[in-house]
This record gives sequence, C-alpha cells and structure tokens, in this order.
Amino acid sequence: MTTKDDLLVFVDEPDTEIVDTQQSPWKIMVVDDEEQMHQATRFALTDFSFNDRPLEIISAYTAHEAQKLLTIEEDIACIFLDVVMESEDAGLKLVPIIRDEMNNSAVRIILRTGQPGYAPEVEVIQRYDINDYKAKSELTQTRLFTALTSALRSYQQICTIEAGRKGLEMIVESSSNLFAFRAIKQFATGVLTQICSLLEIKSEGVVCAHTNTLLHKSDMSILAAAGQYADFVGRPLMTMSNLHLREDIEHALAEKKSLFYEDRTVLYLSLPSRDEIAIHITTYSPLADLDRQLLEVFCVNIAIGFDNAQMFQQVESLAFHDQLTNLPNRVSFLRRIDDKLKNSDQKFMVIIADIDNFQAVNDGLGGDIGNAALKTIGRMLNSCCTNNEILARLGGDLFGLIVPYRSDSQIDQTLNNILQKFIEPVVIEQNHIPVSLSIGASVAYDNGDNSELLFRNAGIALKNTKQRNRGSYTRFNEEMTRDLRTRLDTIKELRTAIDNNELYLLFQPQINLHNGNLEGVEALLRWRNAEGIENYPNDFIPAAEDSGMIVPIGLWVLEQACKQQVLWSQGSRGPIRMAVNVSMRQFKEPDFIESVITIVNKTGISPSCLELELTETIIMSDSRVLTAKLNQLRSAGIQIAIDDFGTGYSSLSYLQSLPIDRLKIDRAFIEHIDSRSEDASIAAMIVAMGHELKLNVLAEGVETDKHETVLKKLGCDQAQGFFYARPIAAEKIEEF
Ligand code: C2E
Ligand code: CA
Ligand code: CA
Repeated sequence: MTTKDDLLVFVDEPDTEIVDTQQSPWKIMVVDDEEQMHQATRFALTDFSFNDRPLEIISAYTAHEAQKLLTIEEDIACIFLDVVMESEDAGLKLVPIIRDEMNNSAVRIILRTGQPGYAPEVEVIQRYDINDYKAKSELTQTRLFTALTSALRSYQQICTIEAGRKGLEMIVESSSNLFAFRAIKQFATGVLTQICSLLEIKSEGVVCAHTNTLLHKSDMSILAAAGQYADFVGRPLMTMSNLHLREDIEHALAEKKSLFYEDRTVLYLSLPSRDEIAIHITTYSPLADLDRQLLEVFCVNIAIGFDNAQMFQQVESLAFHDQLTNLPNRVSFLRRIDDKLKNSDQKFMVIIADIDNFQAVNDGLGGDIGNAALKTIGRMLNSCCTNNEILARLGGDLFGLIVPYRSDSQIDQTLNNILQKFIEPVVIEQNHIPVSLSIGASVAYDNGDNSELLFRNAGIALKNTKQRNRGSYTRFNEEMTRDLRTRLDTIKELRTAIDNNELYLLFQPQINLHNGNLEGVEALLRWRNAEGIENYPNDFIPAAEDSGMIVPIGLWVLEQACKQQVLWSQGSRGPIRMAVNVSMRQFKEPDFIESVITIVNKTGISPSCLELELTETIIMSDSRVLTAKLNQLRSAGIQIAIDDFGTGYSSLSYLQSLPIDRLKIDRAFIEHIDSRSEDASIAAMIVAMGHELKLNVLAEGVETDKHETVLKKLGCDQAQGFFYARPIAAEKIEEF
C-alpha cells in the first residue's frame, strides 16, 4: 500500500527526545528578599531558552510568599531560593515544606546565599533533593545558565519518568480492570475507554477484529466503538460509511503495525491465536512520544487480555453452549430462566420437547445421521422462535424453549405451531425420518418461581405426554405432582404384590388367519391390589420398569405362563403357543437367558411353544450383545417375536441378520387400516417384508371384521384383538 501524505511514519523511527508541542515557557521562581537579586537574575536570563522554550520568571520576596505562589502556580520547574530571608534559615525551612508537605518532588531547587561561609549540611542537600548550592557572588551569567540548564534537564527527566510512571500505573490498573471482562466485546469496549483515558482525550474510535477463530467468520467486524462510531458495534467493517477509517484499519492490518497520524492513531495487535485487532482512535493532535511508548506497552498488555477474554469466551461457550447445534445448553437454559425471573414479573413458558423414538434413529441409521437430524430439528425449532424467545438443547434429543406467556389460547397455538412444523418427515441424506415431538410445558409463577422447579414441572408434564399421548403437548398442573406421588406409592405397593398374591395373568387368543384356528395366546399381566382395585398394565408396568421391579415380576409372569401352557398341553387339545412380554430392563439383565432356561426346565414347557415378545427398541440396541443373546434363545428352541413393530426404524437388512420368528404389526397401523391408505400400505409393506424374510406376521388390535378382511387380503398370518377376544382368564381360554 502507498503511504498517504499525512502519514507520519513514526513507527520505525528511533525514539526521539520528547517534544512538547505547546512550546509553553519554563516557569521558574526567584525567591529572595533583595529586589536587586530579582532584577539581576531577570536580566541575566533574558535570552535564556532550553529546548526552544523560553522562561517565565515568577518572583517571591519571602519564604511565606513563595509557599503561597507554589500552591497557585503549577509546573514550576526550578526555584532559585535565598537561604536567609525573614529569618536566618527561612529559605532552608521552605525546602522540607515543598518536598514533604506539598509533595512536590519534581521542582528543582537551587539554593543561593549571600554569606559564603554559610552552607547547609550535605545530608540536608541530599535528603531534600537540592540541585545546587551557590554563593550569590559565584553566580555569573554563564554559571547561572549552566546551573539552570542542568536543573531544567533534570526537571524534564523527572517529569517524563513521573508521567511514565503514572501511565504505567494506569496501564496496570486498567489492565487489571479489563481482565475482569470475560467477553471479547466487553473487553474491547473497555480497551477503547482505557486508551482514551490514558491519552486524556474524549472517547472516539473503534476496535476492529480480523479473525479466523474469534467470531467464527473471516470477516472484519467491529467489536467496540465509541463517539460518532458508536452505532457500528457488532457490524462488519464493510458497512462503515467512513471510508478513511476503513482504509486506516485495512492499512494497519495489511502492514501489520501501528500507525500514528497527526490526528488519529491506529494500533495493531496480533494475538497468540493469530487473530488480529486494529484499534482506531481519533487523537485530534499528534501523540507525544511518551504517549506512544505507553500505548505500545499497553498494547502488549491488552493483547494478552484479548487472548484471555477469548479463552474465557471459548471456555464459556463450551460450558454454556451445545457444540453440535450451537444452541445454549441446559446450564445456560436454567440460567436464562432465572435471569428472566429476576428481571421481570411477567409470566413466561418453559417448554421441554423430546423427540419420540429418537434412539431408534440413532441405532437404526447411525450416529452421523442422528446428529444431522438433531441439527435440522434444532434449526426447525429455531424458526418457530421470535427474537425474545430462547431455544436450547438440553441434551440428547431434548430441546428447551422459553417463550413469553400472553394467554392460554396463545400458548396452545404456540405449542401447536411447533408440532405442526414436524408433519413432514425430516430428510437427511435421502432418509425420510418421521419426527414426532412430545412436549411438556410449565408457566413461570403459576408452576414455580425458580428454574429448577419450572424445569422439573415441565419435565413432569413431558413424562405425562410420553405416557398418554406421544406426539402432542401437555401443560403442567398440580394433579401431576399428585400422579407422581401416586406412582411412588404404586412402586411401594408393587414390592409386596407378588408375595400377597395380588398379581395374576390373563390370556389373549392369537388366531391363524389362514384357517381361523386358535394358534396361541399372549400372557398379559394384571394386578388387583389389597383393596381389590384393578391396576392396569399401562399404569403400573412403566413404574415397575422405572423401579426395576419388572425383573422379578417378569420372571414370575414367565413361570406362571409356562406352567399354564404345560397344563393346557396336558389336556385333550393340542399344545398352543404361549407368548410372554419382555421389557428392555429384563432383557438387559446379564443372567436373563439363564433365568429363562431355568424356568423352561423347571416347568417342563416345550421350548418351541414359548415365544418371547421383544419390542423394536430392544432389537435396535447394542447389536453385538443382542445377537448373542437371541442366538442363545434360538438354540434353546425358544421363539422370538418383535412386538409393536413399525414404530421404530429397523431396516430390512438389519432384521435379516437377526434370528427372529415373528413380527407383530403395531395396533396403531391396524386401527385405521380400512380407512387410511397410508396405514394400509405400511401394513402391506410389513407383511411383504416379513414374508420376504421368511417371518410370520401377526396383526395386533384387530377390532372389526373390516380389519380382518383387509389383513386377510394382505396375506397376514395371524391376528389378535378384541374382535376375537379380550384378554381372558385361563379357564375361559379352554372354553374358547
Ligand atoms: P402389548 O404387549 O402391546 O399388549 C397388547 C395390549 O393391547 C394389551 O393391553 C391388550 O389388552 C391390548 N389389546 C389387545 N387387543 C386389542 C384391541 O383389539 N384393541 C385395543 N385397543 N387394545 C387391544 P394390556 O394388557 O393393557 O397391556 C398393555 C401393555 O403392558 C402391553 O402391550 C405390554 O407392553 C405391557 N405388558 C402387559 N403384560 C406384561 C408383562 O407380563 N410383562 C411386560 N414386560 N409387559 C407387559
Ligand atoms: Ca405384547
Ligand atoms: Ca404390542
């Protein structure tokens, strides 16, 4: 780049002696009780100048008067001080007053005395930093010149050092102030303010970052701005209308050095991260050398500071941001709830959204597709948010939203809008992934006045959605806490249910669709508690699973079912298949297979008449251990059915690799099989796919003859449902 006319290339010049641009005179003071001495001194110094600055001579006739003048006149450089005035040592006594009381260590003092014999102690001269001691008779013009020149030079050095010390103190102070700022932008603003206060000028300038890492973009952007530029904070440098300023900054970044112009300064900083910072300051007049040196020291300091702030920001971003979606994380979600509660008493909603069956996406399609799906879903949710709404990823497939509360109906609309977004499947690399969200929501102040409580209550509402109607939303109400308590009571009661003989089994027939015969039954658990009240599986099985109680209960069910099957097979009618449900929790038990085989041996059931129903979720998890376990069951002769099939995402090729016997089409697809063509085609697909893999296909929840007709047409092998029979007691099966 070419150098502009007004560019003073100070940068590479060796340090020059300080140039005071104001050319103000040196102030010196003559303190003497003899008018003659005043006149003689003035006369002798008429043509005196030092560093192109003339003298201004101030006269005092007593020590007392001198003291008064010293408090009024600032910057007196040198005092010619008569020792003997109103008293023998009036002049000498003034010295400690100047140094100690007035705290003026800079002013140079030349003592003069009329009596050659009188000299102060050397100790006094040193202690009070007296420059010179001369008998009046000794002071010829030349001597006066030499003495004053050396006094002024030394005064100037002291001032320079003093200013430097003050500047350094300010740098140390401002740096430590600045280090408290942990965010880059805040830090940059601090830097601008501090520089202007170091230079004692009004704040006007910009801090601009050229960055690869700082802001995740390679653009130059304004981190901080003051004065007439204040409005440009956060904007790209490109948008600044002031062309000169832009050029200055670009120039400094291109040259990689600070530039000092007559009326402005551009400081250049290079950070250890290889990011670069340019600071443009309007100085109005050229900077004095000392100021430039100070700025350079300051720049080293703030480069470290920027680096720190950047690190803090990164650490903070790690602590408060989700790296995958770049959304705030759970910690910052809770913080923001608290912030909102602190800053206003307006109601707002805390919404938690969970993706149904997301585990199946991860397991079935792989982690990469799962991650991509999460990102897309995050973006879709974000598009539901307006400016003052907050979206966060709370972990896994859980998202959180904070939205203002206006009215109940508006909230229903907001929640519906979110659900509506996901009507179409999300497409990731040609995979059409149906996404349904389950949502729970709580309202600030109505359902809690702290983040923990609001979060927990939204979570309870979410759990309710999950249990009752996935793919929809529930708003928290106090009844749910009661439900939660009931659930805890349920778990407590369940512990004694087996021993108290409160559990029993019902059996639901499974019909062969080709010949209409009873082919098998599914064992379904029932619980009538001590008070004779029936608890239904959909209520107590999740509680049993959560608490782990399902493990012993499941074994009890298996044993009862096997015993029942053996009883039936001893009767006149041939053996029928006994299907028993197995929860994830049971299947994961390390000794699950062993326990099953023990029960098979103990009850004497023919293993080929026992079928275990595993859900698709079990099938989709942890495939190596899974395949091993399934193979063990298979080699023991036990059959395996996949329950609720169609709700997960297991692929054809995956199923092919597993030793399974039957697919049970989920009730959800049968319910509208005669009226909804999508459902009919999913059922048709499952039947065709099952047959392709040489599997039996059973339809669950067959309730009408229309259902049966469609299924028969599709070639489905078996059916189960209220159309044939509800779950019934063992004796009723015999009648059936
Ligand atoms: P599931 O394994 O899908 O069992 C079928 C459920 O559908 C049964 O509900 C049954 O009564 C119901 N059902 C059967 N035909 C129809 C129909 O035509 N229409 C409708 N609407 N429903 C029908 P149930 O007995 O309430 O069991 C609910 C769930 O509890 C079962 O779903 C199963 O997941 C679980 N469960 C039941 N017994 C056991 C058990 O012994 N162990 C385990 N781990 N889970 C069990
Ligand atoms: Ca089942
Ligand atoms: Ca089922």
